[in-house]
Amino acid sequence: MSTLEKFRLDCRICVVTGGARGIGRAIVVAMLDAGAYVEIADLDARAAEAAAQELRGNGRDIGASGLDVTSPAAVDAYCASVRGKHGRIDVLVNNAGIGRGFVPAETMTDETWRQVMDVNLDGLFYCSRSFGRVMLEQGGGAIVNLGSMSGEIVNRPQEQAHYNASKAGVHHLTRSLAAEWGERGVRVNAIAPTYVETDMTTEFIAREDLKPYWIGATPLGRAGRPEEIASVVLFLASDAASLVTGAIVLADGGYTCW
Ligand code: NDP
Repeated sequence: MSTLEKFRLDCRICVVTGGARGIGRAIVVAMLDAGAYVEIADLDARAAEAAAQELRGNGRDIGASGLDVTSPAAVDAYCASVRGKHGRIDVLVNNAGIGRGFVPAETMTDETWRQVMDVNLDGLFYCSRSFGRVMLEQGGGAIVNLGSMSGEIVNRPQEQAHYNASKAGVHHLTRSLAAEWGERGVRVNAIAPTYVETDMTTEFIAREDLKPYWIGATPLGRAGRPEEIASVVLFLASDAASLVTGAIVLADGGYTCW
């Protein structure tokens, strides 16, 4: 197999959580481009189906389902249905995640803290556990987690302890699962992006008061685009990354250099 061929995902069964929009949607597109069969799982079943419909064509077939990653029972049932449909699952991209705004720690409600942890960390664990079991049984697979540079540094000037802590948890969970499952053929990695232009961030990226911190503090001098995250996810999911596991790959425009 040539080096370039190792980046392809022909006939691989790939699941992308939160794949209906934003970074998740760009990941779905990248995987389709690489030849994969993709299953989109999103909180909003109609949004998942709408994204799948938009991307179908050129003979590309895409599955779409509603899934709340915070429900372990729903995750197990969804995983069983994907396995029943395809017989195997090669790649899981844990992309579903939420922000819930800027909140000083001393005024954060239990509800806000819990919501962010539930989706970003607990949900990611439930999906990894469920799909990981299938991958371990079949003797191989790749999991790619959406972490964040917020899991490595504390963003300025906004206060977001809930988000930062959830993503730091994602990074160490990534290393923990990689260590547990490596010998059994399952690779687990994370990508840690900078600010990326999606519905989660557009209004903030445009704010003049944030620009000196968000953009001015980034050596590349700009925010990221979803497809720039998708290409790194594709690499980590593919055989081109066969020696890479437990890695937190920064795609941060250099933000953490300063
Ligand atoms: P978006 O808000 O644009 O999209 C997130 C997607 O996840 C939506 O489709 C959303 O569904 C879905 N989702 C939310 N909660 C759940 C849930 N409980 N179960 C299943 N799906 C759910 O986010 P981004 O594309 O910006 O972010 C994607 C990932 O990248 C997240 O993990 C985020 O933390 C991470 N990231 C983003 C950065 C950025 O600057 N944008 C930077 C660093 C990391 P619905 O629309 O129905 O709510």
